[in-house]
Amino acid sequence: MKSQLVQTIRHYNNKGWSPATSTNYSFRDAQGIWVTRSGIDKSEIIEDDFILVSDVCEPIGEYSNLIPSAETEIHCMLYKIFPEARVILHSHNKFPVLCSTENDLFIEFEGLEIQKGFRSINSHNQNVKVPILDNSQEMSFFIEQLSLRRNELKFFCFIIRQHGTYAWGETLLEAKRHLETLDFLCECWWEKNK
Ligand SMILES: [Zn+2]
Repeated sequence: MKSQLVQTIRHYNNKGWSPATSTNYSFRDAQGIWVTRSGIDKSEIIEDDFILVSDVCEPIGEYSNLIPSAETEIHCMLYKIFPEARVILHSHNKFPVLCSTENDLFIEFEGLEIQKGFRSINSHNQNVKVPILDNSQEMSFFIEQLSLRRNELKFFCFIIRQHGTYAWGETLLEAKRHLETLDFLCECWWEKNK
């Protein structure tokens, strides 16, 4: 999993989705949750840049002196409320960032074939409402919001206002599908509405 995820992260970096050491990524296996270290240049990320953390988000064992990403608690919370999730991806693609300045609690999409990239959607005619959370430097804010808005996370993704997107899945392929679907929908929304 580590090598595949490293390839994905470098690919997203090439697309301009993780400027200036931003974004973070994780996967979960029998050992626990593996999350990217804080402050890594994603163009140079390697397999050793993943840190093992416990369910309560503390680095474990040989990793206990290392600092995981500042947003690690978001990952831990998502694994808690989506026990089937195995991979979580985060993007700072500029289109969702821009779209979040023009939408309030949700962004809505309808009529686009790419929507079928979401597991729960099988027609372009279905309505898709993706939640937007306000940004915060307090992880407790996100923990509370994700818990309160759990039922709105039907498409396995959300946007943080003027910040970026999170998406997850039961496999790396599914997490990628969800992240790339949301980011492409946002690109279309922005170009159509602006
Ligand atoms: Zn971020």
